Amino acid sequence: MNNLPFPYLQNVSLSQLSTFAIGGLAKKYIPLATIPDLVKVLNYLWQNSLPFQIFSGGSNIVFPDQGLDEILIHLKDGTLEVRDNLLTADSGVKLSQVINFAIKNGLSGLENLSGIPGSTGGAVVGNAGAYGSSVSDVIQEVNIWDKGRVYWINKKDCYFTYRESIFKKKKRVILKVKLRFKKGNKNNLLSISRQIINKRRVKYKEGLRCPGSFFKNILVTDLFPSVLEKIDSSKIVFGKIPAGILLESVGAKGMKIGEIEIASFHGNLFINNGQGTAADVKKLAEILKKKVYQKFGILLEEEIRYF
Ligand SMILES: Cc1cc2nc3c(=O)[nH]c(=O)nc-3n(C[C@H](O)[C@H](O)[C@H](O)COP(=O)(O)OP(=O)(O)OC[C@H]3O[C@@H](n4cnc5c(N)ncnc54)[C@H](O)[C@@H]3O)c2cc1C
Repeated sequence: MNNLPFPYLQNVSLSQLSTFAIGGLAKKYIPLATIPDLVKVLNYLWQNSLPFQIFSGGSNIVFPDQGLDEILIHLKDGTLEVRDNLLTADSGVKLSQVINFAIKNGLSGLENLSGIPGSTGGAVVGNAGAYGSSVSDVIQEVNIWDKGRVYWINKKDCYFTYRESIFKKKKRVILKVKLRFKKGNKNNLLSISRQIINKRRVKYKEGLRCPGSFFKNILVTDLFPSVLEKIDSSKIVFGKIPAGILLESVGAKGMKIGEIEIASFHGNLFINNGQGTAADVKKLAEILKKKVYQKFGILLEEEIRYF
């Protein structure tokens, strides 16, 4: 690999960079805090045919045990601004910062996502959501870098569905996001946000080494009636069967491979007890997928992303 004409670090531990605390070494690691710097770096890498990967909050990924040979870009920060009910955020801004800023300005739309870790760009990639809302509810346009070109695409062209977007399928880098909110009552919004954060603290204790929910929930509309018959309808929430319910019923809680363990209190929560590996995560995930498929005829899909 060529020497790069901008600062970078070598052999950086990936396990320090994700909430799951898994992964070998990144050979070349570039931390960046601004969009102009990001675009400069991306253009250089593109012009020199140098492969790269990008991440931000590291809260939805499983890095590989063998490390990364490709250049790893870490988008760490950014700025945001609001005009009337339109908020523009750099993709590296924390989602929590966007939510707090919106609430402070009496803007409603993302308060149900309070407490979700990670960046705004990461939230767009996975169409992050909670309690019946998702980030796509407020997205108007997304500014992207795509093979040397920078342009805006509208919401329709992002193909958002439940925990999905075009960005999971096509390698495009999200630079900025324009979010359109509704007017709301600041105190009500703050109260909703606090309640949700308190609820989430019960499941996700401070410092828990995990990537959030491991598998996606299942949309009821995706299932044949014969499959749906096997599910207790009282468990369906916001039109979805929680993956955790299916996993619990096949005995997932407390299962363990190496130092990767399924929480004793939640079937869809993979926890790294310290020295867990991506290989063990994959083994455990495959076993659980098979068990759920055998019992319900439902194929679970990962919400997390393997690098
Ligand atoms: C405790 C905990 C609770 C969670 N709860 C929820 C929840 O309730 N709902 C929910 O939806 N998620 C939840 N998550 C998962 C995670 O927080 C979200 O998916 C989050 O939006 C990911 O953002 P990130 O910046 O951490 O993304 P990363 O993990 O850094 O990256 C995720 C993916 O996005 C890509 N990516 C990141 N930034 C960019 C960019 N600028 N351009 C292009 N691609 C990019 C990466 O390549 C990777 O494929 C939880 C995670 C944890 C640890």
